[in-house]
Amino acid sequence: MKTHKVTLIPGDGTGPEIVEAVKKVVAAAGVSIEWETVDAGADAMEKYGTPLPLQALESVRRNKVALKGPITTPVGTGFRSVNVALRKELDLYACLRPCKLYPGIKAPHDGVDLVVVRENTEDLYAGIEYAAGSPDAEALIAKHKGKIHPGAAISIKPISPSATQRIVKFAFDYALKHNRKKVTAVAKANIMKFTDGLFFEVARKVASRHPQIEYEERLVDNMCMQLVVKPRLYDVLVLPNLYGDIISDLCAGLVGGLGVAPGGNFGDDIALFEAVHGSAPKYKGMNKVNPIALVLSGVMMLEHFKETEAASRLENAVAAVLAEGKTLTYDLGGSASTLAVADAIIEKMQDCKIVDGR
Ligand code: NAD
Repeated sequence: MKTHKVTLIPGDGTGPEIVEAVKKVVAAAGVSIEWETVDAGADAMEKYGTPLPLQALESVRRNKVALKGPITTPVGTGFRSVNVALRKELDLYACLRPCKLYPGIKAPHDGVDLVVVRENTEDLYAGIEYAAGSPDAEALIAKHKGKIHPGAAISIKPISPSATQRIVKFAFDYALKHNRKKVTAVAKANIMKFTDGLFFEVARKVASRHPQIEYEERLVDNMCMQLVVKPRLYDVLVLPNLYGDIISDLCAGLVGGLGVAPGGNFGDDIALFEAVHGSAPKYKGMNKVNPIALVLSGVMMLEHFKETEAASRLENAVAAVLAEGKTLTYDLGGSASTLAVADAIIEKMQDCKIVDGR
């Protein structure tokens, strides 16, 4: 059996608890993984003076695959997001967030199965921000006299042809590989004519090279309404960073919430898997949050390793636990613990082995 080496970033808040649950279920799926655990986030800040130590980055660069628990980002002050920094430093330009409704989960619509492809490296997440009263902010206010209120803080939103080209290409390649029929580009090009306008313009060019896949454009405000009312019309969505972040949470709400929404971040040769949700710090240490979002991110990791059989065994076990509805965490209406859900998933995998005679 091949052993895969994976960098493990437990994260903080409820991260370490769900990471433990995932390690357990992945081992039970029959895949051999050597985990290389590294620190990042607030604890790393205390230990190394930086929330993203070089050792963590080097480990991911060396192993090429990482599984990550969520990391808290202080609001307003403190260090910048480690999650954003990891994606930028490792050039993990594509964020893939499948939103599939599993039977048993109560949701507003049946049959939702769409995929959000979010650009990860630019847009308002580029980290180019000028604090209120700073010389750069004041200079911009003076330059754009009358257009910016006095005392404003300012963020810059870069959207480039190269980053747009590669994310839209990623979305079409994904659609082709997974037999998806349609790609919808989402932006707000009626208002941000140059930045979001460029996003659509480049997307249209990439789409013209993939005539077998339907292509359409939606304005992001209308997209929110459409997704809430008729999500089954959509298949693969491709969006700039900020809209992608927001729409991912909306889509998570369509399939049972953040507790079941997985994700993966991809560069040319590195992949980092993490749930859509954050560190849910109020539940830290309570063994209470849903591990399924990170377990399904683990399924994506196994697919990435081409451990196809183990990946479907694990996904089927998750689906069986959800369909049975007996062992669910609070967010899905149950009262089971994080570890009880992991154990129920493991039990389902064992039941499958007995049924299959394997
Ligand atoms: P959150 O995702 O942590 O929580 C939002 C809501 O969803 C809360 O009610 C929470 O309890 C619930 N929730 C989240 N995950 C759950 C799970 N697995 N099971 C059941 N319920 C779950 O979002 P937030 O409160 O806005 O952010 C908390 C911190 O996480 C912030 O510091 C934020 O910056 C950070 N964050 C990190 C990541 C990441 O690591 N990729 C992503 C988003 C937010």
